[in-house]
Amino acid sequence: ESFTDMCLHSSIMKDIAFHEYTRPTSIQAQAMPVALSGRDLLGCAETGSGKTAAFTIPMIQHCLAQPPIRRGDGPLALVLAPTRELAQQIEKEVKAFSRSLESFRTAIVVGGTNIAEQRSELRAGVNIVVATPGRFIDHLQQGNTSLSRISFVVLDEADRMLDMGFEPQIREYWLQILACAIMSRSTVMRNLPKKHQTLLFSATMPVEIEALAQEYLTNPVQVKV
Ligand code: AMP
Repeated sequence: ESFTDMCLHSSIMKDIAFHEYTRPTSIQAQAMPVALSGRDLLGCAETGSGKTAAFTIPMIQHCLAQPPIRRGDGPLALVLAPTRELAQQIEKEVKAFSRSLESFRTAIVVGGTNIAEQRSELRAGVNIVVATPGRFIDHLQQGNTSLSRISFVVLDEADRMLDMGFEPQIREYWLQILACAIMSRSTVMRNLPKKHQTLLFSATMPVEIEALAQEYLTNPVQVKV
């Protein structure tokens, strides 16, 4: 499969060409069509495989299909990563494939950086948030952002997030997502199931990851490189 076969937004195609990605890597060829179809995904892949673009490109495409973000809106998509360095790498890739899109905004929310700056960025409204779990929960608790519009979630390097003890934060986040889904179902979209797509990437698949996937993914497609 080529990038051309994936029916990507023309501006994303332009950026793919600009960055000289001539053909999809194995994980991209397997994961992108699944992610673009709206299904949940369990991906077994390591850094270096091209997994970042495999979720970043479908995530941007997903955001482009949503109503535009206004000031005060919560984000449309969220990536949770175990470390600041990984979050920065992911943000770079998101920016790389959204550079031609006017008013497409991404915020990086990690520890060890200015929280006030992040707050004003989040409050202004962004399409995508790339975050480490601890700092993201801080912002949620302070009311600087909300989960109410999130419909695309990526857990990257999930095995490392568990190793680093982030499981309680991931669970806390999921409880809030569920609460938002129940609230929106009971008010605005009573009869519509809330569409919420989740991708989980992990270099290893220990039983803890399988359990997490079982709990949080709906009928996922598994891909492995
Ligand atoms: P990742 O595994 O996501 O950290 O990606 C590893 C490296 O491969 C990064 O420097 C990417 O920019 C690069 N890369 C990812 N996909 C492609 C592609 N389809 N063609 C060329 N380079 C790529």
